[in-house]
Amino acid sequence: MLPFAALPFAGVTMNLKELNKLNTNSPAPKMPVLFIGHGNPMNAIDENEFVQGFRDIAKQLPRPSAILCISAHWETEGTWVTAMEKPKTIHDFGGFPKPLYEVQYPAPGSPELAKQTQKIIHKTNVGLDEKWGLDHGAWSVIKHLFPQADIPVIEMSLDYRQSASYHYELAKELQSLRNKGVLIIGSGNIVHNLRMVEWSKINEYSAYDWALEANEKMKQYVLNHNHSPLINFSSQGKPFQLAIPSPEHYLPLLYALALQDKEEPVQLFNDKPLAGSLSMTSFKIG
Ligand code: ZN
Repeated sequence: MLPFAALPFAGVTMNLKELNKLNTNSPAPKMPVLFIGHGNPMNAIDENEFVQGFRDIAKQLPRPSAILCISAHWETEGTWVTAMEKPKTIHDFGGFPKPLYEVQYPAPGSPELAKQTQKIIHKTNVGLDEKWGLDHGAWSVIKHLFPQADIPVIEMSLDYRQSASYHYELAKELQSLRNKGVLIIGSGNIVHNLRMVEWSKINEYSAYDWALEANEKMKQYVLNHNHSPLINFSSQGKPFQLAIPSPEHYLPLLYALALQDKEEPVQLFNDKPLAGSLSMTSFKIG
């Protein structure tokens, strides 16, 4: 009997090196793309319906060869990808209970995927980073998707100097990774106004009218594959301005949308408003 890895349909369980050796006659199935609302860092250790939503969506995915995450919490000058063998778990927040600081997500990195990503992006020179690791935008959700921490994870940073359309165009260049079994995840929140959060209702479903309106409109644009108003979010009126007071939690959505093929279906999950000025609304594309 052939060893498992030699079977022709084992592509998605192979590592990247092995995938690259495959000839183009046997492509891996095209990997879906996720946009995940990560919300409160406590979701990393809490048990709630959002965490269950993360787990449920993971059950619908083929097993990825690797993960590339664009997190709201890594903003840089220029675009960088983490390229170390063992990314550290970064506890990039303050004032939370001790157990949250004890969480480790020891997934390996993938210097090969980092180099490959650097190679396929032409819009800018992508740098290879050896210092970052996995911030909570990545590990607090990936931990629930793949609790074994046995799938390599790299992060790609957000160049804070660039426009929304720049990010959207850059993200398109990641498309070929989907055919190599790479799961691309944008992690942020589409409605994210921390200044207006009603902290007493942090775990309650409540929303200001503007938050509901922005969330609803964004959702409809995503479901109708109407990306142009989403790229031009800053000219969509007051509700969008309040939902996106700064772009870092919103831009990961554009990375996911840029990878959507024509006619590719979108599935909504965790679509709930929280604490007045946040929403957990998440999407699976493909
Ligand atoms: Zn965040």
